Amino acid sequence: MLKLFLPNEHVKNVFEIKPEALKAKGVKGIITDLDNTLVAWNVKDATPEIIQWFKSMEKNDIKVTIISNNNEERVKLFSEPLETPFVFAARKPLGRAFRKAVKQMKLKKEEVVVIGDQLLTDVLGGNRSGLHTILVVPIVQTDGKITRINRQIERRILNWMRKKGMISWEE
Ligand SMILES: [Mg+2]
Repeated sequence: MLKLFLPNEHVKNVFEIKPEALKAKGVKGIITDLDNTLVAWNVKDATPEIIQWFKSMEKNDIKVTIISNNNEERVKLFSEPLETPFVFAARKPLGRAFRKAVKQMKLKKEEVVVIGDQLLTDVLGGNRSGLHTILVVPIVQTDGKITRINRQIERRILNWMRKKGMISWEE
């Protein structure tokens, strides 16, 4: 059961995820979380670095869809300037938004990776949907209300995994 919370990969931030490396693995699409994955949860717009990251993906024909549990206003305001498809109120870890994103990108499951900062939403949802999952370290340590509760549960799972030697990165 706990295996469903285990990401396939973990990196410090999205900038460690390079289009060339994805391409080499046959990846053609990315489903990414927004808050604390691309920018801090309380930052409205994409940073110049994030804009560059999106451009580098586009240049390499890698499609990106943002799926977020946050509301329409937040997700739309962030995504539209990037001209990237998005799903708001996604209800991760439920599988529906993940399936929808894969379908909209016209890709196969095997060609898509999921990037996110939370085990209980991004990683669990991605794993349950049969997608390759990449965990990033949250950009800031503060969170919205619901996330704070998730984080407490997450901490316990992470500690358990660390003890079992399933993960090796430092916080
Ligand atoms: Mg997040």
